Amino acid sequence: MVINVSDILTIEGACMNIDLCIPKETIDLYDKGINLSSPIKIKGTLTNNSMSELYFEGQAITTIQMPCDRCLTPTEENIVIPMEEIFTQKPIAEEGNKDEIYLIKEQTINLLTPVIDRVLLNIPMKILCKKECKGLCMHCGCNLNVKQCDCIEHEIDPRFEKLKSLFSEDKEV
Ligand SMILES: [Zn+2]
Ligand SMILES: [Zn+2]
Repeated sequence: MVINVSDILTIEGACMNIDLCIPKETIDLYDKGINLSSPIKIKGTLTNNSMSELYFEGQAITTIQMPCDRCLTPTEENIVIPMEEIFTQKPIAEEGNKDEIYLIKEQTINLLTPVIDRVLLNIPMKILCKKECKGLCMHCGCNLNVKQCDCIEHEIDPRFEKLKSLFSEDKEV
């Protein structure tokens, strides 16, 4: 994802529109446990802040596929990730900021690294196939969205069974 920035590199305040599409095949995040089901679209503006710095503001949009947190059904979710990145020609002096500043090399920048960094930081911890997903039965493992097993009725805590009989005795008195 190399972008030639020579047009705006020497003009302070100059900007250029970025509208890119990174094919999902280009980004292999399988080893990170991330399965993208659509390309990553990047839209935004690259602005020359000063003679040695470019500022990118925009967003990355993609779709991830993960098992539903409750019922494990493969589920897709669109994610929109805001991006604000700084590209500099200066060697990085402060160690602390190293991860957030990217380099301009030979009048080009590469958006791939910042995009991957952002995606990794913004992957939801869990997703649901639907808000009201009923999940799996804890006893027989059946998908409760698909069928209702009768495990719950059979599994009454013996302590509650005792209480129940107490209550029914009370009623009879
Ligand atoms: Zn579910
Ligand atoms: Zn069950």
